[in-house]
Amino acid sequence: MTEKFTPDPTLNGQVNNTFVKDEYQPLGKEVYIKAADMMSDKGYKEAYLGDTIRFKMKRDKKRFWAGDNISDYVSEQDKEKLIDEATEAFETVLDRLLIDRENDPNSHGTARRLAKMYFNEIMAGRYEPTPDATAFPNDSEDRYEGMLVVRSELRSMCSHHHQPVSGVAYIGIIAAQKLIGLSKYTRIAQWCARRGTLQEELCNDIAREIEKATGAKDLGVYIQAVHGCCENRGIMAHSSLTQTTVLKGAFKEDGNTKKEFFDNIKLQQEFAPR
Ligand SMILES: [Zn+2]
Repeated sequence: MTEKFTPDPTLNGQVNNTFVKDEYQPLGKEVYIKAADMMSDKGYKEAYLGDTIRFKMKRDKKRFWAGDNISDYVSEQDKEKLIDEATEAFETVLDRLLIDRENDPNSHGTARRLAKMYFNEIMAGRYEPTPDATAFPNDSEDRYEGMLVVRSELRSMCSHHHQPVSGVAYIGIIAAQKLIGLSKYTRIAQWCARRGTLQEELCNDIAREIEKATGAKDLGVYIQAVHGCCENRGIMAHSSLTQTTVLKGAFKEDGNTKKEFFDNIKLQQEFAPR
């Protein structure tokens, strides 16, 4: 059987306009590899390390959302290779955005800068293990029993738009049987923040990690932050502020404790406005 067709000029400039269908088959865009070869060393060498790690996490049913810590699956050496792989992917994004990354001096090297920034800075909290927070006993007779409120400056990124989120967390606890160094509250909060998050989720994450590190059951976390995704795009709201609160134990159940926490926050804000 004979059919008329128009050859692709870039590939088949010389071909005339008729062909015998049975003698041709379409050149597919997908390339296949034998499943058995994928499992061999050869297959792995050609695959991306990032795919291998994703495969392992799926196998283990480990969640790897933008706000999840996956440090158990990523070693320091892996990070270098993952940055190389992400560089390649960001190069493709720039190409698709029609940015001349070869001739534009400001776009030259941007793909690698982006890859390094994601792994080492704005999403570092996904790949680094929990910060060390040595606990000191607080169980003697004159133990500290009061409220402790720490102000922690935060930089984060929303997982919806990858736009910056910046703000402050106020972390309050009633001291339990152990205490951690004051700077550790902020280290833990920043470790939670340096991921792709939602503010609501971040507030919960900080409360959970502070509870783990201090053993305190009575605690509160209040965050106020501005979101790049509301300021730079969408509704372009320049002075919008988002506030979230997580309260546990006495902070939730006892009105006086709750009031003391928020009074302390007001005093903090007089001392250091946002
Ligand atoms: Zn957003």
